[in-house]
Amino acid sequence: MSYTGPEFDPPQQRRFRRAPLAVGLAALVPGALLGWVVYEGVGRPGGDDAGQASAATPKSAPASPDDAKAPVPTPSGSLAGKVILIDPGHNPGNFQHTSEINQKVNIGTNWKECDTTGTSTNAGYSEARFTLDVAHRLRALLEKQGATVKMTHDGDRPAWGPCVDKRAAIGNDAHADAAISIHADGAPEGDRGFHVILPATVHSGAADTRPIVGPSRTLGERVEKDFAKVTGSAPSNYVGNGTGLDVRKDLGGLNLSTVPKVFIECGNMRDSKDAALLTSGAWRQKAAQGISDGLADFLGN
Ligand code: ZN
Repeated sequence: MSYTGPEFDPPQQRRFRRAPLAVGLAALVPGALLGWVVYEGVGRPGGDDAGQASAATPKSAPASPDDAKAPVPTPSGSLAGKVILIDPGHNPGNFQHTSEINQKVNIGTNWKECDTTGTSTNAGYSEARFTLDVAHRLRALLEKQGATVKMTHDGDRPAWGPCVDKRAAIGNDAHADAAISIHADGAPEGDRGFHVILPATVHSGAADTRPIVGPSRTLGERVEKDFAKVTGSAPSNYVGNGTGLDVRKDLGGLNLSTVPKVFIECGNMRDSKDAALLTSGAWRQKAAQGISDGLADFLGN
């Protein structure tokens, strides 16, 4: 896409995030002692990366004077101990850095552009702004449930990127239990609905998706079901034959992932009816809730 026009400001983007996080942390503190006792008895469930939990670890956790290296207790919540990677598709600054994002990176099967600008609504609300807003809402929901959330970027980079290979590496390095890349599509008017993209089996160069194809499909099916339920949106009428699922082998962010990962195209920004949803903060909150529910369903198994 070659869009260069103005963008809408998503309303209340920054204000939204902090309050739920603060409430979540406050709710965690009373449970910290119990959680610590359980932890000491049975060991830390699931995770192998205790340091990742520091952002949500209650400060009132009991000290362990006899062993300075005692592990920090995990936060309470249904997603405690889980690491989730959120990848907000594209970057609002990519439009101004087309030479940088056109540089090729190796995605295993072939070389491909570092990233693209993404699409936008006809009125100028960019996909990158949309994905970052949904990511913030999703992060708040997941952290409230005790998850440790990593982001591939938070609008804080020098204006562009990261490249798709780096986005995969960030999830891999975090040993994420699940990863989701958030997008919205740019298809013709009349093409409507959402779809979830699953990794194909790829074994070429640095790409080997064989270990993640199965769990990624399960993740994708959970996200598809819950996204439909919470948003009321129908699965895509132009991809996936009504299943809301698509399988692709041309996306570096999936090919290079070593952790269960899917993309979600939340709707078609170029369709006027879908655009009315995508530009609504209330709808984006539902979108985040649907994705959060899908992740929680997947990680609860
Ligand atoms: Zn996209």
